[in-house]
Amino acid sequence: MDINNDITLLKGVGQKSKLYFEENEIRTISDLFFTLPKKYDCYIKKDLSLINNNEKVIFNGVIDSFTYARFGFNKEMIIVYVLGKEKIKCVFFNQSYLRFGLKKGRIVSVCGTYYPTKKEIIGNKIIYENKEFYVNVKYGLTDFKDSQISKFIDTAYQSYNPLFEETLPPYLIDKYKLLPINEYLKKSHNPISLSDIKQLYRRSHYESFLKYAVSLKILERNIMRLPKTKRLFDINKINNFISSLSFELTNDQRKAVEDILNDISSDNVMNRLVEGDVGSGKTIVSAIAAYASILSKKQVCIIAPTEILAKQHYESLSILFKKYNISISLLTSSTKASEKSIILKACQTNHLDILISTQAVLYQENPFYDLGLLVIDEQHRFGVKQRSYLLDKYKDCDALYLSATPIPRTLGLSLIGDLKISEIHTKPNGRKKICTDVIDYNSLLKLGSLIEKEISLGHQIFVIANKIDEDDLKYDLNKAYNLFKELAPNALIEKINGRMKEESKNKIMERFSKKEFDILISTTVIEVGIDIKDATLMFILDSESFGLSQLHQLRGRVGRNSLDSYCYLVTEDLCNERLNVLKDTDDCFKIAEADYEIRGPGDFLGEEQSGFLNFDFKSDQAIFKCASDDASELVNNNSSYVKNIEKELARKNLKLN
Ligand code: ADP
Ligand code: MG
Repeated sequence: MDINNDITLLKGVGQKSKLYFEENEIRTISDLFFTLPKKYDCYIKKDLSLINNNEKVIFNGVIDSFTYARFGFNKEMIIVYVLGKEKIKCVFFNQSYLRFGLKKGRIVSVCGTYYPTKKEIIGNKIIYENKEFYVNVKYGLTDFKDSQISKFIDTAYQSYNPLFEETLPPYLIDKYKLLPINEYLKKSHNPISLSDIKQLYRRSHYESFLKYAVSLKILERNIMRLPKTKRLFDINKINNFISSLSFELTNDQRKAVEDILNDISSDNVMNRLVEGDVGSGKTIVSAIAAYASILSKKQVCIIAPTEILAKQHYESLSILFKKYNISISLLTSSTKASEKSIILKACQTNHLDILISTQAVLYQENPFYDLGLLVIDEQHRFGVKQRSYLLDKYKDCDALYLSATPIPRTLGLSLIGDLKISEIHTKPNGRKKICTDVIDYNSLLKLGSLIEKEISLGHQIFVIANKIDEDDLKYDLNKAYNLFKELAPNALIEKINGRMKEESKNKIMERFSKKEFDILISTTVIEVGIDIKDATLMFILDSESFGLSQLHQLRGRVGRNSLDSYCYLVTEDLCNERLNVLKDTDDCFKIAEADYEIRGPGDFLGEEQSGFLNFDFKSDQAIFKCASDDASELVNNNSSYVKNIEKELARKNLKLN
């Protein structure tokens, strides 16, 4: 039998399951074997008297007594007293089926979370024998119970008993004594001891780091520093331009400018990322870069992720270069066709110095006469393919990326060898700190009067919800809308989401900035570049599901004035370590670093690259270092492992964040 068979050939998989599987990219029986658990919940036998924090444990003993209780609407609680080394109260919620097995004197192992302050276990499972270890394998596929997946995989093993080819280079398996692929897969689905779990994590972490490191090196190789013709410009003119500004550059801006001018006048193509929080003044830095390029008789292209941002750049550069003989045009998807062709014609015949655009320009045949500098604003919003699209056409072109979402240093400096980084830490006109708090939904319900008060003062409110109409989620846009309608019955509320046409989005934003309504319920489309002067209040619903850097970007939408501003991160998970970081700091560099330490590189790579979700990145630094060194060697030798990843990257157009 062939493991590349369609998944429906497996016993028990019908058409409906097939659909769910397909949504998760599981099409063949082989795919099923490679569907690895997202998480293991391990219960371990421990001496309860030594436990200080809430911890998952397994407790052995015999049943001493038990009672049932009902509470709330239709909810049930079973309390079982288990006599082991001591007598422990074990509470089970809504597991009425347990009734059938309970008997005084029966041997049990209770798996659950031990709360030392209450000397109580909230139980998840009862096993009727004494065990030292129990693990719950979690696949995290929403449409299937984990036990169902386990069953499918069991059946598949019995019918197919597959042997897979090793996915890692064999010498690395030997070097680190990693589990070979077949053993690894089998144990992944059915670990039986803590040492199994440890071995699984070792391979999984190593493998995901290696893959990550190799991916970065491939991307890096593809944007290699190519030689270029040296740019010549008169530095005096640049200095004059800088001293004619209405403000002095900050030290970090000055340093970034120096770095960039050196790159531009060198004989390698520039490949530099300028990192700095919103408002740190990256635009002027890129404008100086543009000026230098134009002085060396080259054209400049500036690309922004949204039309609004492109327009803002157009306006600020037009003012900056007003007294200079520099021509600037704006080209977006809403530029009229007739105007568009005039702009492109000018650009192609070297009658235009700076073209500011959204992605629209990427897909033009040959827009430039002699492109010398490409500036990409909010670089993390673009995929690698989009970024390299113009650079592949204009090999002589310098690239400058701007980002308000720093790549964590621990990650960036060790791996992104070719991409040089300039950091801007200071903000010129120090903005007021946005008061940030983490609250639960109950507390949110009590904030109606605050909301009404802000509105009565003429202030405006942002509400961020995670998704558009997905009914299983806690708060999608519609539910958020209804919630705020209830909280502030007199408020005028509108919704906006990323799937709307650019035109409709712009219209709503324009109306919001004209104060035609009070509350804007939005997905993350408002992350960058929207400037509502009187917005003082923001609520981010289900905030635990966002990355820290993203939350920081989002909250930057309020407090763009001298008023006190507030950001409430709403979540049921009040102890969330990550969210609390935002209460304490507004330094985007620290935030990126914290996100990285808490969540691992997954957040910067997409979940899929990060392997297991709950990995402890701090203790994995050593593995990361090994994987990074091994990656260099593999890429230098262009091994078949590297070629495979290269193909995968090309297929996915992976975003290098
Ligand atoms: P961002 O880094 O978010 O792109 P901008 O470049 O838009 O920030 O700058 C934000 C504002 O700060 C602009 O109005 C800009 O003119 C101003 N600005 C930039 N640099 C300085 C400076 N050194 N001193 C005072 N204001 C500055
Ligand atoms: Mg900017």
